[in-house]
Amino acid sequence: MKIKYRVVTVYVLVAALMLPALTSLMGCAAQEEKKHTRTVFFMDTQVDITYYHPSAQVAQTDIAEMFAEMQRLEKILSREATGSDLHRINEAAGREAVEVNPETIFVLRSALEFAELSDGAFDPTVAPLLEVWGFGGDFPAVPAQEELARARELVNYRLVEIDEEKGSVFLPVPGMRLDLGGIAKGYIVDRGQESAQESTSAVFINAGGDISIKGRKPSGEDWRVAVQDPDNPDRFLAIITMEEGSVATSGDYQRFFEEEGQRYHHIINPFTGMPAYELSSVTVVATDTMTADALSTVIFVLGVEKGLALVESLPGVDAILMDNSGELVYTNGLEGQVEIMTD
Ligand code: AMP
Ligand code: MG
Repeated sequence: MKIKYRVVTVYVLVAALMLPALTSLMGCAAQEEKKHTRTVFFMDTQVDITYYHPSAQVAQTDIAEMFAEMQRLEKILSREATGSDLHRINEAAGREAVEVNPETIFVLRSALEFAELSDGAFDPTVAPLLEVWGFGGDFPAVPAQEELARARELVNYRLVEIDEEKGSVFLPVPGMRLDLGGIAKGYIVDRGQESAQESTSAVFINAGGDISIKGRKPSGEDWRVAVQDPDNPDRFLAIITMEEGSVATSGDYQRFFEEEGQRYHHIINPFTGMPAYELSSVTVVATDTMTADALSTVIFVLGVEKGLALVESLPGVDAILMDNSGELVYTNGLEGQVEIMTD
């Protein structure tokens, strides 16, 4: 009995001695943040998530949930998908109000605020113009003048009716249509970011240039976000150094077609019905991705002067603009944070 007792004592002692060493080893492992990445193609673009966490299993489960949330929202907010909130609102234009998800009301309300802010340069009822140009379809083409004029008459964000209590949206004129392509991706990226677990040290989401950054890299380095050169996909215009926040870019190179040597792209000036031509790239830095996304489209339509004036009037927002002659300007807030890539 005594011997047994001694043996047990020794085991217990050894275990007690090993325990601190083991826990400190495990502690080290727990501290070690590893980089996990995944890419999925949706929202018409490549969506990348970079995620820092010690556990691959936690990271992959969380990344999958983030993608699931973003894809759920895409189904609701897409103009083309049959059964989406937007599709149902558009189909019922001139007939009846349609009950929708609260997320749709939120994004639409935000889009209407950007429409007010820009006096209609940004307009979520721009869809009839996008349709006559054929953007979103297989055969985009320059529309006839009468077609353009008819479509322009249907574009008027002031007519959109939202009933908060019923959670419904009504477009009062037959043929009116909503499109949230200039803002929804940013909102969806923000929601993806919010659905990440709190224990994560850092998450970087890039949805085709709509970028959200939360937390610092474990190395302590800042994030470096490259802005593509509109004239050369293999080159960068600028590098922005940031700790956290959002970036979005609108460019004439992102979706376009050419007819008789002229490039026609997807960001339409609602007043002329034509693609907005003054700028070829606008990058906005803001605290959230929805704001960055919407404002990049807004500024693209407004042009250099009005665009810069708007950005300067908004706290926490900065921008880099490249006009159609290749001239680059950026707002004061980016001083020391942006590196311009010259030849
Ligand atoms: P982005 O790439 O964020 O600049 O968004 C471009 C998308 O916004 C287009 O593909 C259209 O879906 C939509 N759009 C185009 N012109 C306008 C406009 N004037 N106001 C609001 N949305 C627009
Ligand atoms: Mg946008």
